[in-house]
Order: sequence, then C-alpha cells, then structure tokens
Amino acid sequence: MTKARKPIEDPIHLFAHGGIEGAVLRILDDAPHSLNELLPDGFKLAEDRSLPFAFTCCYVWHRNRHVLVDGGIDGDEVAAQLAFLDVEPKDVELVLITHVDRDHVAGLILQVGDGELTYPNARYAIDAGLWNLLHQDETYEELPKHLQRLFKALTARLESRVILCDGETEVVDGITFVPCPGHRPGHAAYEFATDAHSGVGPLLHVGDAFLHPVFLEHFDWLVVGDTFPDQAVESRMQLIERIERTNALVLATHFPWPGLIENPSH
Ligand SMILES: [Zn+2]
Repeated sequence: MTKARKPIEDPIHLFAHGGIEGAVLRILDDAPHSLNELLPDGFKLAEDRSLPFAFTCCYVWHRNRHVLVDGGIDGDEVAAQLAFLDVEPKDVELVLITHVDRDHVAGLILQVGDGELTYPNARYAIDAGLWNLLHQDETYEELPKHLQRLFKALTARLESRVILCDGETEVVDGITFVPCPGHRPGHAAYEFATDAHSGVGPLLHVGDAFLHPVFLEHFDWLVVGDTFPDQAVESRMQLIERIERTNALVLATHFPWPGLIENPSH
C-alpha cells in the first residue's frame, strides 16, 4: 500500500507523569464522528453531536525500558516519529497489544520485503485467548484478504516473541495487563506504575475500551461496532472503578488529541 498521504499535523505529544516519560504519536489526522453513528437504534440522541476522533499509538519510557502501546497502521511512519525521540526500532523492548484491529497492529509488520517485524527485538504482550483465536481456522473464514494476510504474518512473526497474558498479569516490572474484553475479544488495557514517591496515580492506557470520553460518563451506553456490546459495558464499568480507585491518568487511542485525561471523576 503506497497511498500518498499528506503529512500529519502536530504528530507528537510529549508528556511526563510520575517518573514516566511518554509520547502520544498521531498516526492519522483527526476525523470527526457522529455520536449517533456509534449508538444503536433506541439509544440515539434527539440532537446528534459531532465527536472529534484521534488515531494514535503511544511510546512510553518506563523503568529503563522503551515500550510501545500498539503499533499504529504504518510501521515506517511510527518509526520516523520515534526517531524524533532518538529511539530506534531495534531499541523497543516491549510492545503491548490492546487488540488486533488494523489501526493498532498493522504497523508492527513492515509493508516492504518479507513482512519483517518493525521492532525486531521486542517482546509482545497479548491476551492468551486472542492469540489462540488467531490460530483457529474459523477466525479467518469471514475475514477480508488483507486482514487474513496481516493476522497470518503476525502469528508467524510473533510466535517466539509473545508474552501470553491470561487474566490480570504483571507483564514486566510495573506494567500490568488488564483484561477488558468486549470492544473486541481479548481486548486489554495496560497500567504503568508510577514512582512510589511521586504521589500520582498510574498511567492507564485503555485502548479502544472507551472510544471517546463521552463513554467515561455514559459507560453503560451500548456502542455500535463493539463485538460484544454487553461485555464491553461490563469492562467499562470495571475500568471506571479502577480509574477512581487508583486515581489513574487515562490515555485512549481515539480520544481527542492528545488523548490524555486526568481522573475523569474529579
Ligand atoms: Zn482503534
């Protein structure tokens, strides 16, 4: 795919939080969405609202590790953004996969050559059940060809590099895999512990569990496009409870740029 795209405006947002240094990387320009398009019949608002949507992935420097949450769509483009941070693809030690939609994982595989990994030295955290699904023939039956190719490449390339997470798991020191399925099977959030003396809550990347901040307030609204909408509501409830309990700084892939929100209940 060599579709020419105009350069992304304002592609990197740097942040620091309790000893963590990070950068939200914009992978596409924002696209406004209609809220009613996300709400099922019977739940639509009398007056529709337009929601700004960003498309991002996230780099985190955490306890001397270079970490990525998801890999965006285009690995070359994400690598070019990392270069501004003086991070090379070979330096990335850990990639935390929230789910395997294209805008989150296509960038993990280079589109040139033999489909090598963009981050050849990384280990990749993923939900164990989702990893299993990616190995089942039935998963591929209804999929368009380009997704079949992507998933086959992912399973082949990541085979010896995955960290399979089954239930809430500490992936490495201070980074916790938090299952929150529903948007997709095996969807996960990741919690980064901050320095104990910093006095601030953790950083919680919620992936697509919340597509927009409006769902932090209305977590029980069913969302069109979630694979298991009822399960997604349950997961959002549990995440909100966690955010309030831990006083987390919340980061989400598609929140309006740059996508960071202090404890929303405050
Ligand atoms: Zn997404």
